[in-house]
Amino acid sequence: MDILKAQDTNLLIDKFGRQVTYVRLSITDRCDFRCQYCMSEDMKFLPREKLLTLEEMSLLGETFASLGVNKIRITGGEPLVRKNIMLLFQRLGKIDSIKDLTLTTNGSQLAKYASELKNAGVTRINISLDSLQENRFHDITRTGNLYQVLGGIDAAIEAGFRQIKLNAVIMKNHNHDEILDLTEFVVNRGIDISFIEEMPLGSVSSHDRDKTYYSSDDVKSDIEKRFLLTSSAKTSAGPSRYYDIEGTESSVGFISPHSHNFCESCNRVRVTAEGRLLLCLGQEHSVDLRDTMRRYPGDADMLRTTLIESMHIKPEGHDFNTDGGVPVILRHMNMTGG
Ligand code: SAM
Ligand code: SF4
Repeated sequence: MDILKAQDTNLLIDKFGRQVTYVRLSITDRCDFRCQYCMSEDMKFLPREKLLTLEEMSLLGETFASLGVNKIRITGGEPLVRKNIMLLFQRLGKIDSIKDLTLTTNGSQLAKYASELKNAGVTRINISLDSLQENRFHDITRTGNLYQVLGGIDAAIEAGFRQIKLNAVIMKNHNHDEILDLTEFVVNRGIDISFIEEMPLGSVSSHDRDKTYYSSDDVKSDIEKRFLLTSSAKTSAGPSRYYDIEGTESSVGFISPHSHNFCESCNRVRVTAEGRLLLCLGQEHSVDLRDTMRRYPGDADMLRTTLIESMHIKPEGHDFNTDGGVPVILRHMNMTGG
């Protein structure tokens, strides 16, 4: 499709005919935690001037919305450690065509922000929680306090979001023995959970990813020792497979980049905290949106054209593997936005 025609459609359609309707915006690479699978202990963060400003991110959200995007997820790094962050949620929350404004957070600041986020229009929250054991939680996150996060989860439940879902990355011999406890935890609170296979993003020194790999199918069999799972109609327009947990209000999702390829139905792109548009989580294809926005400040048309053109380089799929523990992609997850 030539650019003019693509502009006429006002939609983001790639050369394989997939329409992008979902954008993940990473709004900072910084975080108050240093999770073993996500960051190294001595991370170097970007200088502030390299990050998109909140103003630039708002313009980006509005421009994506004008091109048919109806779901925006704010992620990071830890989004809630960014200064004045509520300004961004308030502005994105006012865009009518965004039907789903969601947040992925480690929960450490949720006790403070949950009700403001709800009032700003955030619809759903994903909260990462890999362990319910205080010491183990601290080991995995290196700096986190379990009770602060549990307080954040309570505050989010109290605020009444449309959905609250926990995200747990399962690593063999680190936390795979907590799969049932974590499932029990969400069932008791009427919230949902997704179990995530660790992805080879960035090199990590704390463990060998080949040895810690625990497949979604194994997680599912563990859960089925106590709960009956039935295939759910629920979809996240993403790589999760969902099951209802019979006799409860909770559902469980499995995010399985290794064992279940999800590329053919991919409807998403990501923007890094420094404004790089990533066309695929597992490939390096990217476009520098910060450059466009700083060369043509406030020019939404130029930004729209850049976004439409970018669709031409969205690759067909990713190519994750963990062979030899070598990361396929050198970016850490905090850069990419999970
Ligand atoms: N700080 C927030 C949080 O932890 O929820 C948002 C950003 S974090 C990068 C988003 C999600 O990515 C988290 O659920 C985290 O567990 C997951 N994640 C980070 N590194 C990962 C990896 N190497 N493989 C799989 N999931 C990962
Ligand atoms: Fe921070 Fe989230 Fe990465 Fe953990 S997973 S280090 S909380 S960005």
